Amino acid sequence: MEQNAAIHIIVIDDDEVMRMSCEQILVKQGFDVELFDNGISGLERIRQRQPDLLLVDLKMPRIGGIEVIQTVHDLNPDVIIIVITGYATVDTAVDAMKAGAYDFLPKPFTPDELRLIVQRGIERRQLHAHSVALRHEKEKMQRQYITFVSHQLQSPLVAVQQFLEVLKHLGDAPNKAQLQEEWINKSLHKIKDLLALIRDWLKITKIDSGTLIEKTCPIDVIEVIQDIVETFRDQAQEKQLEINVSLPAQIEPILCTEECIHALLENLVVNAIKYNRHNGVISITVDNINTHVQITVRDTGIGIAADELPFIFDEFHRVKSGATKHISGTGLGLTICKKICDEVGGSIAVESSEGEGTTFTVQMPKFGQV
Ligand code: ADP
Repeated sequence: MEQNAAIHIIVIDDDEVMRMSCEQILVKQGFDVELFDNGISGLERIRQRQPDLLLVDLKMPRIGGIEVIQTVHDLNPDVIIIVITGYATVDTAVDAMKAGAYDFLPKPFTPDELRLIVQRGIERRQLHAHSVALRHEKEKMQRQYITFVSHQLQSPLVAVQQFLEVLKHLGDAPNKAQLQEEWINKSLHKIKDLLALIRDWLKITKIDSGTLIEKTCPIDVIEVIQDIVETFRDQAQEKQLEINVSLPAQIEPILCTEECIHALLENLVVNAIKYNRHNGVISITVDNINTHVQITVRDTGIGIAADELPFIFDEFHRVKSGATKHISGTGLGLTICKKICDEVGGSIAVESSEGEGTTFTVQMPKFGQV
């Protein structure tokens, strides 16, 4: 009732009894009500202050209801217009609807009928306002998002541009050859980061559009893990990492695509290498869990602070700390992992303890079982 005070209703009807009874019923409901006995003064007021809802008689002298409806609808199509009429034929109903009316209330009506139709109209207006607000919010977020992504792509390019400027102005520096090599290496490094960013970004767009996960089939996850371990063995060796893989005697195929499960597990293994300590350990285990296959990737690395954990699957989120400062990455790897899991009805979870290590647990549905 209290919130109705903010809802403004205008009643236009040349029949005084009708106006008074509408007012009595609606004011009792707490609405802010104004009455007019003809279309001209009603429209004058509406031009000054547009109501949330208009109740208008169809048959009035001087200017008829249809004209009022048309004018109000042109002024603001969001005003809910309810037509009161004593001669509701199909033709007049169609005309009023065409002109922009929302509903009809045939005379005579009971207080309950009026209350119900007004309530429905108000709800409809609020629903519409809510969806418009949501659409605006979404558009705003999309605009901000495009700016944000452009900025992420632009930063390494700007860095390369600056490095090239430095190279160009080296002049006759005594150690020119050495400086040249230094700045060229820096540039190559930034370009590598940029390419990784674009590669991951394209992967995300492909997942979002559904094309990466289009053709799911039975996948032997063990083969994928063995392949990844082989590929990254040298990189792990550089940090003297031990990689332990524990596999069950038998495991059923999972539902995914080769490319997706490869991308997912590769991200987890690469992170377990990147964020591990020297002489650390990486443990990969595979288990049967009812309808799913569970894969865990555990490391003995720097770990993730508890207040960072809720954000690590967000796009471009990278933990900023002394320990991660010199580790390069796109901040998109875990987003890709999460999106792939969501697409096939799987899940990914993380547990971590700062300075001790991190465990990622992935569950993927078995083929033909979910
Ligand atoms: P990045 O390319 O930066 O590694 P990810 O999306 O893969 O991006 O990971 C997001 C962030 O989560 C990383 O920047 C890092 O701070 C943190 N993170 C991910 N995996 C680990 C891990 N195994 N150990 C510690 N921190 C991790």
